[in-house]
This record gives sequence, structure tokens and C-alpha cells, in this order.
Amino acid sequence: MEYDYIIIGAGSAGNTLAARLTEDAEVSVLLLEAGGPDYRLDFRTQMPAALAYPLQGTRYNWAYKTDPEPHMNNRRMDCGRGKGLGGSSLINGMCYIRGNAMDYDNWATMPGLDDWSYLDCLPYFRKAETRDIGPNDYHGGDGPVSVATPKPGNNVLFNAMVEAGVQAGYPKTDDLNGYQQEGFGPMDRTVTPNGRRASTARGYLDQAKDRPNLTIVTHAVTDRVLFEGKRAIGVKYLRGREQPTTARARREVLLCGGAIASPQVLQRSGIGPAPLLKGLGIQVVHDLPGVGQNLQDHLEMYLQYECKQPVSLYPALKWWNQPAIGAEWLFLGSGVGASNQFEAGGFIRSREAFEWPNIQFHFLPVAVSYNGSNAHDGHSFQAHVGSMRSPSRGRIQIRSTDPKVDPSILFNYMSHEQDWEEFRDGIRLTREIINQPALDPFRGKELSPGADAQSDADLDAFVREHAETAYHPSCSCKMGTDDMAVVDGQGRVHGVEGLRVVDASIMPQIITGNLNATTIMIAEKIADHIRGRQPLPRSTAAYYVANGSPVRKQPQRA
Ligand SMILES: Cc1cc2nc3c(=O)[nH]c(=O)nc-3n(C[C@H](O)[C@H](O)[C@H](O)COP(=O)(O)OP(=O)(O)OC[C@H]3O[C@@H](n4cnc5c(N)ncnc54)[C@H](O)[C@@H]3O)c2cc1C
Repeated sequence: MEYDYIIIGAGSAGNTLAARLTEDAEVSVLLLEAGGPDYRLDFRTQMPAALAYPLQGTRYNWAYKTDPEPHMNNRRMDCGRGKGLGGSSLINGMCYIRGNAMDYDNWATMPGLDDWSYLDCLPYFRKAETRDIGPNDYHGGDGPVSVATPKPGNNVLFNAMVEAGVQAGYPKTDDLNGYQQEGFGPMDRTVTPNGRRASTARGYLDQAKDRPNLTIVTHAVTDRVLFEGKRAIGVKYLRGREQPTTARARREVLLCGGAIASPQVLQRSGIGPAPLLKGLGIQVVHDLPGVGQNLQDHLEMYLQYECKQPVSLYPALKWWNQPAIGAEWLFLGSGVGASNQFEAGGFIRSREAFEWPNIQFHFLPVAVSYNGSNAHDGHSFQAHVGSMRSPSRGRIQIRSTDPKVDPSILFNYMSHEQDWEEFRDGIRLTREIINQPALDPFRGKELSPGADAQSDADLDAFVREHAETAYHPSCSCKMGTDDMAVVDGQGRVHGVEGLRVVDASIMPQIITGNLNATTIMIAEKIADHIRGRQPLPRSTAAYYVANGSPVRKQPQRA
């Protein structure tokens, strides 16, 4: 049980590292995953349109709950995380969004992170990707992640929604991951050419799993990292009722458990805030107060409308239509089943003070909760709307040394006045967009929040009771050099040797968009550091920077 590298967690980042490190035939890697395989025959994880199913139950979902959130009516809110080969990319919404160029340029202003600028990151986004319509300066043509672009002729509501955004005075952008993120446009998805979910198990592990230098162990829950002095030398993990197993790492332990699990594993291993560890009787290997702090997420709400024409996905929710949809998807890889149905979206700045977009829209041609519950009984559509860089900060703390005990998680959602302003603006601006002429043929009654909700107090009450996570926890082991930083710019844990964290937890600040592509990019970039390779040359592609001039024209009224 001795390997060069031990990777904990076969999720978005862990699978990327496993595949890249084992390209070097002389390097041996053990990949430990707490969940099971990604069964190719399980439509729940493989069919894009079935994305709500894996969230139901705990087979593929850790299904954490937060502590009562004090600004959200003390609700204990969902915190779903993927479990199994693929991690959260096995259960996510498949929206392929990279964030805004300014996110990375902002990271690069932080001490120790100067090689995380957008143009440093872009070559790694490209390396990871194969886009179905071919490569260009922004997109890759031969990477492990299959990206599908929306096709003309798909649901008419997608075009109408983009058009409504433009009529409301926002820019139109043909590529939310290209030259300009800001505006409304088609939204790509991580789906293979034959209509299957493109998780990292599919893209990365499929090409690596038969290599003799890669050992994959599923149902293996890592208890803790083992140390000799300050050097990580291996891990202890548990499999069912078996005796705990110890594996040794000759070179490094690479922790890829994600933003909720990585801080837990560190804390159980004696790396974290000393008072917390001592309180649980854990021997402190290194006092690192930032472990589990700086937790961030995207919160979102659904603005739902009746649809006057029978063009929504409502029929697809009926069981009697599902066998035909399933058969088309299974045998032809096409049809409603082959899409995540988030084929249009946008990014806007709700106020000029924001240097880059602070609000994201996903449009869905049916009104239903993310986990499939509360579907409206009739034709409908909805906009998912949420703020992107909330100043609220949360934290994760283990409650026990037992890895089976869930941690205490608190996001502190909506704990700043800025959050309330952004969400009120979000509702009012969305109504303005939905009221544009492009949606006249379709727009029916506002179902939620409902036309009666107009005052600040009404809108705040709606957010408090109905806003939900967009499933983007991150930043809980942030990169940097300040006192609260956990890792350096290459993922190396401060104060110890032979241990890195590589996953969504090391983002110093959450990005403007969904996190999967960025997490993969981070792992691709750090894989080159681990392998001692030269970083890919910095891109020279142009990118849009709002120069302070108003990008929003006067809305055209109906
Ligand atoms: C429901 C949902 C919808 C989402 N929608 C989108 C979307 O549409 N687009 C997008 O870009 N992003 C989306 N995301 C976010 C994105 O998928 C994640 O941010 C990203 O996958 C995180 O990658 P990671 O490597 O940090 O962690 P993960 O991919 O979560 O991987 C962590 C892995 O570690 C394993 N693990 C945890 N603890 C242990 C342990 N003790 N021992 C061994 N293994 C362990 C886990 O089982 C998991 O497989 C969504 C996420 C969810 C959950």
C-alpha cells in the first residue's frame, strides 16, 4: 500500500489530477472515493434532463444540511454534494460557465497569486475542453470535458428570453465563456456528443482507469491524513466494516474532497484552528485558523410565470411522456433527455458600481424546484436569479473525530445589507426583463414571488423564505499568504510538507458563475506544478472589461 501520490476524492478536481498525474507512466497514484461507481446504466446520473433525481436520496448526494441560517428564517438549508466517481460533476446541473475574466484578474491582485490572472488560467480552460463546434482562442478542441452548445430549433422560450434581455437594454453575447461574459446569450453544457452527462469520471477517468499506475478504490472514506512530524506520509481510510486501512504516499497526499469535505479531513488530521481541534481532543499538527473559514456560496431564487402557449417542458414532466423521451435519449442520444434545459442565461450588473456582473440568470422553460419538487401544474417558465459575489462569509467545523458525523455548516447567507440590495434589485430587474415584448406571446401570471409582492419588505420576506443554494460552496481552504490562507498559489498547505488541497475550496473568492469548469481548470493548472512541467504559455486573447461607461441602454418599453 505505497504509492507516489494519494488523491482523496474522485470529484471534479480529483479525477483531473488522477488522469494527468498517471500520464507519467513511472508515477503511481491511489485514488480514494467515499462513494461508489458512476453506473452507466443509471439514467439518474447519465441523462442530462434527469438532473433532479440524483439529489433525491443519499446514494449520490451527501445531502448535508446547514445549521439554522439566522438571516433565512432560521431554515436548515440544503447543501447537496456529489458522492461517487465524478463527485459533484456526477450530479450537477451541467451548466458550462467559467466565470468572468475579472474574477481571475482580481485573484491575481492578491499576494502570492500573481499567476492566476485570466490569461494565465485561459490556457487551462482550453486544455480541459472539447467544444462540439470546434476550438478557437477561448475554447478547446481536444480536452477531456465535452461541451455542447445549444442548437437552433430548441425550445422557443430560450430565444425569447435572450431577446427580452436585449430589449431591456443589456448586451447580447454569443458566448458567455468567450470575449464577453456580460449580457444575455446561449448557455453551453457539459454533455457528450451522444447526449450523456460529461462528468469528470467520463472525461478524465475513462481514459485513465485502465492504466496500471492508477488504483481506484471506491466506498473508501478517508478518515485522516497521517503525519511524521510536519510531513504528510499517508492516509487512513475506512471501507464498510473492514478494519481501517493505511496507505503510504512517497511524494504527496492530494486532498480533493471539495469545499465541505476538505476542511473536515484537514481538521480531523490536526490541521485547523487549534481551539477547535483541542476541544475535540485532536493533536494539533499545525494551527491554521483559516481551515473551514471564508466559506462562500451562490444563493438563488426562482421567479416563476405561467406560460400562455403550450411550448414549455410541462408535458415532459408527465410520466406517460417519459418512456418516449427516455427511448429517444437512450438509442439516439437526442431529444429533451439530452439537455439540462438551461440553454439560455445571462450576467448583468445591477448597479454601475459593480465593475463586472454581479447577477446571474439561468432560464428554465418550466417552473419547478431544482430538486424536482413543487412543479407548477400547467405550462410555465422560470428565471433562476442570484447574486455572484456576496460579502457574506460562513464556516465549516467538525463536531466529532468520527468521519461519519456531519459537520456544522453555516453559510451566514444574506448577512450583509449589500446582499439584500442585490436580491431586491434582482427581482425588480428580472420583472422588467420578463415584461419585454419578446415575451408578450408567452408571459402569463407571475407565480412567484407574485404580483402582490412589491415593497422592499415583501421582497425581503420572499427571499428569506424561498431563496435556495445554487450548490456552489467554495473558498473554505483559500489560497493566499495572509493569516487566514490555508494553501499557497500551488495548493500546498501552509506549515506542513507533502500535502496539497486541490478543489473548489482553494478559490480565494467565489467566481461569477458556476464552479465546475473553474475547479477543473484549477486542477489542470496545479497538475502541471506537481509534475514539474512549465506552465502553459499565457494566452494573448482579448477580453471585455467594462470601462466604467454605462453598458446598459434605456429599456425599450412595450
Ligand atoms: C446539485 C449541484 C448542481 C450544480 N450545478 C452546477 C452546474 O450546473 N455547473 C457547474 O459548473 N457547477 C455546478 N455545481 C458545482 C460543481 O459541480 C462543483 O463546484 C464542483 O464539482 C466541485 O468540485 P470539487 O472537486 O471541489 O468537489 P467534488 O466534485 O464534490 O468532489 C469531492 C469528492 O470527494 C469525495 N469525498 C468527500 N469526502 C471524502 C472522504 N472523506 N474520503 C474520500 N472521498 C471523499 C466526494 O464523495 C466527492 O466525490 C453543482 C453542484 C451540485 C452539487
